[in-house]
Amino acid sequence: MQNVRYSVVIPVYNEEEVIRETYWRLKSVMDQTGESYELLFVNDGSRDQTAELIVAMGEKDPSVTLIQFSRNFGHQVAITAGMDYARGDAVIVIDADLQDPPELMLGMIAKWREGYDVVYAKRSERKGETWFKRQTASAFYRILKRMTEIDIPLDTGDFRLLDRKVCDEMKLLPEKNRYVRGLVSWVGFRQTAVEYVRDERFAGESKYPLKKMLKLSMDGMTSFSSKPLKAAGIAGVLISAAGFVYLLVVLIEKWFTRVTVPGWSSLIALQIIFSGCILMFLGVIGEYLGRIYDEVKQRPLYIVSSVYTKKSEDQPALR
Ligand code: UDP
Ligand code: MG
Repeated sequence: MQNVRYSVVIPVYNEEEVIRETYWRLKSVMDQTGESYELLFVNDGSRDQTAELIVAMGEKDPSVTLIQFSRNFGHQVAITAGMDYARGDAVIVIDADLQDPPELMLGMIAKWREGYDVVYAKRSERKGETWFKRQTASAFYRILKRMTEIDIPLDTGDFRLLDRKVCDEMKLLPEKNRYVRGLVSWVGFRQTAVEYVRDERFAGESKYPLKKMLKLSMDGMTSFSSKPLKAAGIAGVLISAAGFVYLLVVLIEKWFTRVTVPGWSSLIALQIIFSGCILMFLGVIGEYLGRIYDEVKQRPLYIVSSVYTKKSEDQPALR
């Protein structure tokens, strides 16, 4: 099997408006390296013309490969599939919407040549995203950093370069609810950053609605910290200590004073607060339990319905 120097992994989900432009930008940047490369598009169950457009590009360009999922499995899974199929000595993951400027890949490659194994792109600024998205993302990265022992760099997405050996280690991690950027940190090796300004989307809308953002952040938290579970214990101890002190106060009042307490509303308030706490922590346990269940089921991470490339006999076997 012929080897390639660079694999560019591009997860795509309903990106018909941008995919052609993305292809040309990626191609012109990768041609500048003067070395061999492949463009691995992972179609995460798009319902528009994305796949057809990629196949049309692939007709004329053997560096294009399309990995077709049988349905939408999510961005993180699409990236994982791309890494599984990548053959290059270095693997670069990039979004399809040109928010990650392809030109930065050259900078990443330069760092890789210096001997770094992971080069991640750190966002110094984010353009064209809502105030809400920027604030919640920034808060999430900071909270996660405090909650975990693993050093996950702040303000980085999945735009990064991985050396072959890092990619091979990533393939050995079987977990289902994946937070890829955390896993890359977990794997270790020599890592460094290049900074960039995150552009606006070239066209179309974000494919990350609030629901998917919440899922990603919960995966990040639960995969890399068990502190939320411990918080329940700590809260329990504090609340019962307070309750005990209050009991003493009540007893002293009963024995030594004549204060009578009407106290209905305070009882109801406390009742609601504590039931709320209990439900909340049951929810936390549920989040972990659900993920444990996902692991136990041992289902494959994704299902590939077809792989398209001009030279399909060169493709590695399905996982
Ligand atoms: N994406 C995907 N599957 C999904 C959602 C998104 O493969 O279920 C891809 C999408 O096509 C894009 C990348 O993941 O290439 C990042 O998505 P998007 O740009 O919509 O996210 P945002 O930049 O708004 O966070
Ligand atoms: Mg985007």
